[in-house]
Amino acid sequence: MTAIEIHGFALKEVPSIGLATVYRSLKSLAADGQVVSVEIPGEPPRYERADKGHHHHFLCRQCGGVFELEKCLEGVKTMAPPKFRVEDHEIILYGACDKCSVKTKPAARKRRAVAHAHSH
Ligand SMILES: [Zn+2]
Ligand SMILES: [Zn+2]
Repeated sequence: MTAIEIHGFALKEVPSIGLATVYRSLKSLAADGQVVSVEIPGEPPRYERADKGHHHHFLCRQCGGVFELEKCLEGVKTMAPPKFRVEDHEIILYGACDKCSVKTKPAARKRRAVAHAHSH
């Protein structure tokens, strides 16, 4: 979720909460290791619970939805030369999601749709 989306949820609980407060608490949660920020080029940073485990993301270029992928590439760590220590990697797939890919013509990007991410 983006900070804006989290703010939307927080407002239902605490109607007076400000966006700055949301940013501040996200920062301290990230410092604590409870949430991780996901940076997708050209997108606002998204925040996820850190306990979800390793996963990647798919960005739909048409609706702007971000989807979680559970799979990882086999042998991604072996891509680095010998003696290099791989500590992390980020893989982002771009394309059209299931809903968008059935539409034939690539539509101009309209309003951002809120990705509905499922949690396990
Ligand atoms: Zn889409
Ligand atoms: Zn991976």
